[in-house]
Amino acid sequence: LVSAAGEVQETVFGRMTQLAASHDAVNLGQGAPGDPAPAFLLDAAYEAMRAGANQYAPPSGVPALREAIAMHRRRDWGHDVAAADVLVTAGATEALTATIVALAPRGTDIVVLEPYYDSYAAAAALAGARLRPVGLTIDDGSVQVDFEALADALSENTSIVLLNTPHNPTGLVLDAAQIRRVGALAESVDAWLLTDEVYEHLVFDGTHTAPAAVLDSSRVVTVSSAGKAFNATGWKIGWLIGSPAVLEAVRAVKQYLTFTSGAPLQPAIADALIEHPEFLAENRRTLAARRDDLVAALREVPGAEVVVPASGYFVLVDFKGFTDAAVDAFALNERLTREVGVTGVPVPALCQSGSATADAMAAVVRYSFCKAADDVAEAAARFRAYA
Ligand code: PMP
Ligand code: GLN
Repeated sequence: LVSAAGEVQETVFGRMTQLAASHDAVNLGQGAPGDPAPAFLLDAAYEAMRAGANQYAPPSGVPALREAIAMHRRRDWGHDVAAADVLVTAGATEALTATIVALAPRGTDIVVLEPYYDSYAAAAALAGARLRPVGLTIDDGSVQVDFEALADALSENTSIVLLNTPHNPTGLVLDAAQIRRVGALAESVDAWLLTDEVYEHLVFDGTHTAPAAVLDSSRVVTVSSAGKAFNATGWKIGWLIGSPAVLEAVRAVKQYLTFTSGAPLQPAIADALIEHPEFLAENRRTLAARRDDLVAALREVPGAEVVVPASGYFVLVDFKGFTDAAVDAFALNERLTREVGVTGVPVPALCQSGSATADAMAAVVRYSFCKAADDVAEAAARFRAYA
Protein backbone atom coordinates (compact mmCIF):
# COMPACT_ATOMS: atom_id res chain seq x y z
CA LEU A 1 0.00 0.00 0.00
CA VAL A 2 1.18 3.52 -0.71
CA SER A 3 -0.38 6.82 0.23
CA ALA A 4 -2.67 8.64 -2.19
CA ALA A 5 0.14 11.15 -2.69
CA GLY A 6 2.39 8.30 -3.82
CA GLU A 7 5.25 9.79 -1.86
CA VAL A 8 5.00 7.55 1.17
CA GLN A 9 6.35 4.11 0.39
CA GLU A 10 9.26 1.97 1.48
CA THR A 11 12.44 4.06 1.54
CA VAL A 12 15.08 3.58 -1.13
CA PHE A 13 17.55 2.77 1.67
CA GLY A 14 15.57 -0.28 2.73
CA ARG A 15 15.24 -1.45 -0.88
CA MET A 16 18.97 -1.07 -1.56
CA THR A 17 19.85 -2.95 1.63
CA GLN A 18 17.78 -5.87 0.32
CA LEU A 19 19.47 -5.62 -3.09
CA ALA A 20 22.92 -5.78 -1.51
CA ALA A 21 21.96 -8.73 0.71
CA SER A 22 20.51 -10.73 -2.16
CA HIS A 23 23.82 -10.50 -4.09
CA ASP A 24 26.20 -10.70 -1.15
CA ALA A 25 27.44 -7.26 -2.16
CA VAL A 26 29.13 -4.67 0.05
CA ASN A 27 26.30 -2.37 1.10
CA LEU A 28 27.36 1.24 0.59
CA GLY A 29 23.70 2.25 0.29
CA GLN A 30 22.14 3.49 3.49
CA GLY A 31 24.12 6.16 5.35
CA ALA A 32 24.44 4.28 8.63
CA PRO A 33 27.80 4.35 10.43
CA GLY A 34 29.82 1.14 10.54
CA ASP A 35 31.81 2.26 13.57
CA PRO A 36 30.33 1.81 17.03
CA ALA A 37 29.08 4.59 19.23
CA PRO A 38 31.84 5.65 21.65
CA ALA A 39 32.07 3.99 25.07
CA PHE A 40 31.61 7.29 26.93
CA LEU A 41 28.18 7.61 25.33
CA LEU A 42 27.11 4.09 26.29
CA ASP A 43 28.38 4.51 29.85
CA ALA A 44 26.48 7.78 30.30
CA ALA A 45 23.22 6.27 28.98
CA TYR A 46 23.59 3.21 31.19
CA GLU A 47 24.23 5.44 34.17
CA ALA A 48 21.12 7.50 33.38
CA MET A 49 19.04 4.33 33.12
CA ARG A 50 20.38 3.05 36.43
CA ALA A 51 19.61 6.44 37.97
CA GLY A 52 15.98 6.04 36.93
CA ALA A 53 15.63 8.10 33.75
CA ASN A 54 13.25 5.56 32.25
CA GLN A 55 9.91 7.34 32.15
CA TYR A 56 8.67 10.06 29.79
CA ALA A 57 11.11 12.92 29.41
CA PRO A 58 9.70 16.47 29.60
CA PRO A 59 7.86 17.33 26.34
CA SER A 60 10.48 19.90 25.28
CA GLY A 61 13.39 17.65 26.23
CA VAL A 62 15.59 17.04 29.26
CA PRO A 63 16.82 20.46 30.52
CA ALA A 64 20.48 19.38 30.57
CA LEU A 65 20.30 18.45 26.88
CA ARG A 66 18.56 21.69 25.89
CA GLU A 67 21.33 23.58 27.73
CA ALA A 68 24.04 21.50 26.08
CA ILE A 69 22.61 21.98 22.59
CA ALA A 70 22.45 25.75 23.11
CA MET A 71 26.00 25.78 24.48
CA HIS A 72 27.29 23.72 21.56
CA ARG A 73 25.64 25.98 18.98
CA ARG A 74 27.33 29.00 20.59
CA ARG A 75 30.67 27.25 21.02
CA ASP A 76 30.97 25.73 17.57
CA TRP A 77 29.03 28.02 15.23
CA GLY A 78 28.55 31.33 17.02
CA HIS A 79 24.79 30.76 16.96
CA ASP A 80 23.56 32.76 19.95
CA VAL A 81 20.79 30.66 21.38
CA ALA A 82 19.34 29.81 24.81
CA ALA A 83 18.08 26.51 26.19
CA ALA A 84 14.52 27.86 26.04
CA ASP A 85 14.80 28.09 22.23
CA VAL A 86 15.49 24.34 21.89
CA LEU A 87 12.98 21.53 21.44
CA VAL A 88 14.32 17.95 21.56
CA THR A 89 12.82 15.55 19.00
CA ALA A 90 13.00 11.94 17.85
CA GLY A 91 15.84 12.57 15.42
CA ALA A 92 16.03 15.31 12.84
CA THR A 93 13.31 13.43 10.95
CA GLU A 94 10.65 14.21 13.53
CA ALA A 95 11.84 17.82 13.84
CA LEU A 96 11.56 18.28 10.06
CA THR A 97 8.21 16.53 9.73
CA ALA A 98 6.62 18.28 12.70
CA THR A 99 7.90 21.67 11.47
CA ILE A 100 6.60 21.08 7.97
CA VAL A 101 3.20 20.01 9.29
CA ALA A 102 3.15 23.04 11.62
CA LEU A 103 4.45 25.73 9.24
CA ALA A 104 3.48 24.70 5.71
CA PRO A 105 -0.24 25.25 5.19
CA ARG A 106 -1.98 22.83 2.83
CA GLY A 107 -1.41 23.76 -0.81
CA THR A 108 1.69 25.90 -0.19
CA ASP A 109 5.14 25.30 -1.68
CA ILE A 110 8.27 24.04 0.04
CA VAL A 111 11.32 24.96 -2.00
CA VAL A 112 14.28 22.62 -1.68
CA LEU A 113 17.59 21.91 -3.40
CA GLU A 114 17.47 18.69 -5.43
CA PRO A 115 18.54 15.89 -4.99
CA TYR A 116 17.28 15.85 -1.41
CA TYR A 117 16.90 13.54 1.58
CA ASP A 118 13.84 11.39 0.98
CA SER A 119 11.87 12.25 4.12
CA TYR A 120 11.27 15.81 2.84
CA ALA A 121 8.91 14.66 0.11
CA ALA A 122 7.03 12.37 2.47
CA ALA A 123 6.69 15.14 5.08
CA ALA A 124 5.42 17.58 2.45
CA ALA A 125 2.90 14.98 1.25
CA LEU A 126 1.70 14.40 4.81
CA ALA A 127 1.21 18.15 5.24
CA GLY A 128 -0.57 18.46 1.89
CA ALA A 129 2.12 20.89 0.74
CA ARG A 130 3.95 20.75 -2.58
CA LEU A 131 7.68 20.22 -2.87
CA ARG A 132 9.29 22.58 -5.41
CA PRO A 133 12.76 21.23 -6.13
CA VAL A 134 15.55 23.40 -7.50
CA GLY A 135 18.22 21.30 -9.16
CA LEU A 136 21.85 21.42 -8.11
CA THR A 137 24.21 21.00 -11.01
CA ILE A 138 27.40 19.01 -11.18
CA ASP A 139 29.97 20.81 -13.26
CA ASP A 140 33.30 19.11 -13.79
CA GLY A 141 32.96 17.29 -10.47
CA SER A 142 31.90 20.38 -8.55
CA VAL A 143 28.41 21.03 -7.20
CA GLN A 144 26.73 24.38 -7.92
CA VAL A 145 23.59 26.14 -6.69
CA ASP A 146 21.58 27.87 -9.41
CA PHE A 147 20.43 31.02 -7.57
CA GLU A 148 18.38 32.23 -10.54
CA ALA A 149 16.43 28.98 -10.59
CA LEU A 150 16.00 29.32 -6.84
CA ALA A 151 14.59 32.83 -7.23
CA ASP A 152 12.28 31.60 -10.00
CA ALA A 153 10.94 28.79 -7.82
CA LEU A 154 9.90 31.17 -5.05
CA SER A 155 6.54 32.89 -4.96
CA GLU A 156 3.98 34.27 -2.56
CA ASN A 157 2.83 30.67 -2.23
CA THR A 158 6.16 29.54 -0.74
CA SER A 159 5.80 28.74 2.94
CA ILE A 160 9.23 27.18 3.58
CA VAL A 161 12.66 27.18 2.00
CA LEU A 162 14.29 23.99 3.21
CA LEU A 163 18.06 24.21 3.18
CA ASN A 164 20.25 21.20 3.88
CA THR A 165 23.84 22.23 4.54
CA PRO A 166 26.11 20.24 4.68
CA HIS A 167 24.14 18.55 1.94
CA ASN A 168 23.04 14.95 1.47
CA PRO A 169 23.85 13.52 -1.03
CA THR A 170 26.30 15.94 -2.70
CA GLY A 171 28.47 17.00 0.26
CA LEU A 172 27.95 20.65 -0.71
CA VAL A 173 28.68 23.07 2.15
CA LEU A 174 27.19 26.53 1.67
CA ASP A 175 29.35 29.46 2.75
CA ALA A 176 28.08 32.55 4.57
CA ALA A 177 27.65 34.56 1.36
CA GLN A 178 25.57 31.82 -0.25
CA ILE A 179 23.50 31.43 2.90
CA ARG A 180 22.83 35.18 2.92
CA ARG A 181 21.61 34.95 -0.67
CA VAL A 182 19.26 32.09 0.17
CA GLY A 183 18.09 33.95 3.29
CA ALA A 184 17.38 37.14 1.34
CA LEU A 185 15.40 35.17 -1.25
CA ALA A 186 13.34 33.43 1.43
CA GLU A 187 12.69 36.74 3.14
CA SER A 188 11.61 38.35 -0.13
CA VAL A 189 8.58 36.03 -0.20
CA ASP A 190 8.14 36.00 3.57
CA ALA A 191 8.95 32.28 3.82
CA TRP A 192 10.51 30.41 6.72
CA LEU A 193 14.04 29.16 6.29
CA LEU A 194 14.12 25.63 7.65
CA THR A 195 17.63 24.20 7.91
CA ASP A 196 18.81 20.61 8.09
CA GLU A 197 22.32 20.54 9.57
CA VAL A 198 22.67 16.89 10.58
CA TYR A 199 26.17 16.72 8.99
CA GLU A 200 27.32 19.91 10.77
CA HIS A 201 30.29 18.16 12.42
CA LEU A 202 31.38 16.27 9.32
CA VAL A 203 32.87 18.99 7.15
CA PHE A 204 36.26 17.87 5.79
CA ASP A 205 37.10 20.83 3.54
CA GLY A 206 36.09 24.26 4.82
CA THR A 207 33.75 24.77 7.74
CA HIS A 208 30.06 24.64 8.55
CA THR A 209 28.17 27.92 8.65
CA ALA A 210 24.97 27.85 10.66
CA PRO A 211 22.33 29.87 8.77
CA ALA A 212 20.82 31.16 12.03
CA ALA A 213 24.23 32.61 12.97
CA VAL A 214 24.41 34.81 9.86
CA LEU A 215 20.73 35.63 9.24
CA ASP A 216 17.85 37.23 11.15
CA SER A 217 17.26 34.18 13.28
CA SER A 218 13.57 34.93 13.93
CA ARG A 219 12.90 33.67 10.37
CA VAL A 220 15.12 30.60 10.70
CA VAL A 221 14.19 27.22 12.11
CA THR A 222 17.30 25.15 12.76
CA VAL A 223 17.20 21.36 12.77
CA SER A 224 19.96 18.90 13.56
CA SER A 225 20.64 15.68 15.44
CA ALA A 226 23.28 13.74 17.31
CA GLY A 227 23.19 10.57 15.21
CA LYS A 228 25.96 11.45 12.78
CA ALA A 229 28.06 13.41 15.25
CA PHE A 230 28.37 10.50 17.69
CA ASN A 231 27.83 7.40 15.52
CA ALA A 232 24.50 6.86 17.24
CA THR A 233 21.92 7.09 14.47
CA GLY A 234 19.76 4.48 16.22
CA TRP A 235 19.29 6.70 19.24
CA LYS A 236 17.27 9.21 17.26
CA ILE A 237 18.04 12.23 19.39
CA GLY A 238 17.43 15.35 17.33
CA TRP A 239 16.39 18.93 17.92
CA LEU A 240 14.89 22.07 16.62
CA ILE A 241 15.79 25.67 17.45
CA GLY A 242 13.40 28.51 16.72
CA SER A 243 11.38 31.43 18.02
CA PRO A 244 8.88 30.88 20.88
CA ALA A 245 5.94 30.94 18.43
CA VAL A 246 7.57 28.33 16.18
CA LEU A 247 8.45 26.09 19.10
CA GLU A 248 4.91 26.23 20.38
CA ALA A 249 3.45 25.32 16.99
CA VAL A 250 5.90 22.47 16.42
CA ARG A 251 5.54 21.15 19.97
CA ALA A 252 1.77 20.95 19.43
CA VAL A 253 2.33 18.60 16.45
CA LYS A 254 5.13 16.67 18.11
CA GLN A 255 2.92 15.82 21.08
CA TYR A 256 0.88 13.55 18.83
CA LEU A 257 3.78 12.04 16.91
CA THR A 258 5.97 10.76 19.75
CA PHE A 259 5.18 13.04 22.72
CA THR A 260 8.75 12.44 23.93
CA SER A 261 11.49 9.89 23.35
CA GLY A 262 14.90 8.73 24.51
CA ALA A 263 14.77 9.79 28.18
CA PRO A 264 18.05 8.10 29.26
CA LEU A 265 19.75 8.87 25.95
CA GLN A 266 19.20 12.60 26.21
CA PRO A 267 21.51 13.19 29.22
CA ALA A 268 24.15 11.03 27.55
CA ILE A 269 24.09 13.22 24.43
CA ALA A 270 24.21 16.31 26.67
CA ASP A 271 27.35 14.98 28.32
CA ALA A 272 28.91 14.10 24.96
CA LEU A 273 28.26 17.58 23.50
CA ILE A 274 29.83 19.27 26.51
CA GLU A 275 32.63 16.89 27.47
CA HIS A 276 33.70 15.19 24.22
CA PRO A 277 34.25 17.67 21.40
CA GLU A 278 37.49 15.76 20.67
CA PHE A 279 35.35 12.86 19.41
CA LEU A 280 33.80 15.10 16.76
CA ALA A 281 37.23 15.93 15.36
CA GLU A 282 38.38 12.32 15.52
CA ASN A 283 35.28 11.09 13.71
CA ARG A 284 35.79 13.71 11.02
CA ARG A 285 39.37 12.58 10.44
CA THR A 286 38.34 8.92 10.28
CA LEU A 287 35.65 9.63 7.70
CA ALA A 288 37.88 11.89 5.61
CA ALA A 289 40.40 9.03 5.31
CA ARG A 290 37.63 6.61 4.20
CA ARG A 291 36.38 9.16 1.72
CA ASP A 292 39.87 9.47 0.25
CA ASP A 293 40.27 5.68 -0.10
CA LEU A 294 36.96 5.22 -1.83
CA VAL A 295 37.44 8.24 -4.09
CA ALA A 296 40.87 6.99 -5.19
CA ALA A 297 39.46 3.56 -6.11
CA LEU A 298 36.43 4.96 -7.92
CA ARG A 299 38.64 7.24 -9.97
CA GLU A 300 40.24 4.15 -11.49
CA VAL A 301 36.96 3.00 -13.02
CA PRO A 302 37.12 4.12 -16.65
CA GLY A 303 34.51 6.73 -17.51
CA ALA A 304 33.44 7.29 -13.91
CA GLU A 305 33.30 10.95 -12.84
CA VAL A 306 33.69 11.30 -9.09
CA VAL A 307 32.33 14.22 -7.06
CA VAL A 308 34.73 14.59 -4.13
CA PRO A 309 32.46 15.54 -1.23
CA ALA A 310 33.50 18.40 1.07
CA SER A 311 31.42 16.88 3.87
CA GLY A 312 29.09 14.14 4.97
CA TYR A 313 28.82 10.42 4.36
CA PHE A 314 28.56 10.11 0.59
CA VAL A 315 30.47 10.20 -2.67
CA LEU A 316 28.58 10.62 -5.95
CA VAL A 317 29.77 8.94 -9.12
CA ASP A 318 28.48 9.82 -12.55
CA PHE A 319 28.78 6.72 -14.71
CA LYS A 320 27.59 8.50 -17.88
CA GLY A 321 30.92 7.97 -19.58
CA PHE A 322 31.16 4.36 -18.41
CA THR A 323 28.50 2.82 -20.58
CA ASP A 324 27.04 3.65 -24.00
CA ALA A 325 23.67 2.19 -23.20
CA ALA A 326 20.89 4.61 -22.27
CA VAL A 327 21.45 4.84 -18.57
CA ASP A 328 19.01 4.30 -15.79
CA ALA A 329 20.70 4.64 -12.40
CA PHE A 330 18.53 1.90 -10.86
CA ALA A 331 19.53 -0.61 -13.55
CA LEU A 332 23.13 0.56 -13.39
CA ASN A 333 23.24 0.19 -9.62
CA GLU A 334 21.88 -3.36 -9.99
CA ARG A 335 24.44 -4.13 -12.68
CA LEU A 336 27.30 -2.85 -10.51
CA THR A 337 25.89 -4.81 -7.57
CA ARG A 338 26.19 -7.99 -9.67
CA GLU A 339 29.42 -7.22 -11.52
CA VAL A 340 31.44 -5.33 -8.89
CA GLY A 341 29.73 -6.55 -5.74
CA VAL A 342 29.07 -3.07 -4.34
CA THR A 343 25.62 -1.50 -3.88
CA GLY A 344 24.89 2.23 -3.69
CA VAL A 345 21.78 4.38 -3.99
CA PRO A 346 20.66 5.64 -7.41
CA VAL A 347 20.54 9.43 -7.07
CA PRO A 348 17.32 9.82 -9.11
CA ALA A 349 15.66 8.12 -6.11
CA LEU A 350 16.53 11.33 -4.21
CA CYS A 351 14.92 13.51 -6.88
CA GLN A 352 11.34 14.24 -7.78
CA SER A 353 10.14 11.58 -10.15
CA GLY A 354 10.70 12.67 -13.75
CA SER A 355 12.37 16.00 -12.86
CA ALA A 356 15.06 17.60 -15.00
CA THR A 357 17.58 16.89 -12.22
CA ALA A 358 16.57 13.21 -12.13
CA ASP A 359 17.30 13.16 -15.88
CA ALA A 360 20.60 15.01 -15.53
CA MET A 361 21.62 12.59 -12.76
CA ALA A 362 20.29 9.49 -14.52
CA ALA A 363 23.69 7.78 -14.27
CA VAL A 364 24.69 9.04 -10.82
CA VAL A 365 25.03 6.60 -7.93
CA ARG A 366 25.68 7.53 -4.28
CA TYR A 367 28.10 5.45 -2.20
CA SER A 368 28.36 5.76 1.60
CA PHE A 369 31.86 5.76 3.08
CA CYS A 370 30.62 5.91 6.68
CA LYS A 371 30.65 2.11 6.79
CA ALA A 372 33.19 0.06 8.76
CA ALA A 373 36.81 0.41 7.61
CA ASP A 374 36.83 -3.20 6.31
CA ASP A 375 33.71 -2.66 4.23
CA VAL A 376 35.02 0.53 2.67
CA ALA A 377 38.38 -1.16 1.96
CA GLU A 378 36.63 -4.19 0.45
CA ALA A 379 34.45 -1.99 -1.75
CA ALA A 380 37.53 -0.02 -2.88
CA ALA A 381 39.35 -3.28 -3.69
CA ARG A 382 36.36 -4.53 -5.70
CA PHE A 383 36.19 -1.31 -7.72
CA ARG A 384 39.95 -1.51 -8.36
CA ALA A 385 39.66 -5.13 -9.48
CA TYR A 386 36.82 -4.18 -11.80
CA ALA A 387 38.63 -1.18 -13.34
N1 PMP B 1 18.50 14.84 7.16
C1 PMP B 1 19.44 14.32 6.38
C2 PMP B 1 20.04 15.16 5.31
C3 PMP B 1 19.85 13.00 6.59
O1 PMP B 1 20.79 12.47 5.80
C4 PMP B 1 19.27 12.24 7.62
C5 PMP B 1 19.59 10.81 7.89
N2 PMP B 1 20.51 10.22 7.61
C6 PMP B 1 18.30 12.84 8.40
C7 PMP B 1 17.94 14.14 8.15
C8 PMP B 1 17.62 12.09 9.51
O2 PMP B 1 18.27 12.29 10.70
P1 PMP B 1 17.80 11.53 12.03
O3 PMP B 1 18.31 10.14 11.93
O4 PMP B 1 18.40 12.31 13.12
O5 PMP B 1 16.31 11.54 12.05
N1 GLN C 1 20.02 9.39 6.11
C1 GLN C 1 20.42 8.10 5.66
C2 GLN C 1 20.81 8.18 4.20
O1 GLN C 1 20.64 9.20 3.56
C3 GLN C 1 19.40 7.02 5.79
C4 GLN C 1 18.39 7.09 6.85
C5 GLN C 1 17.28 6.10 6.57
O2 GLN C 1 17.52 4.93 6.30
N2 GLN C 1 16.08 6.55 6.59
O3 GLN C 1 21.27 7.21 3.71
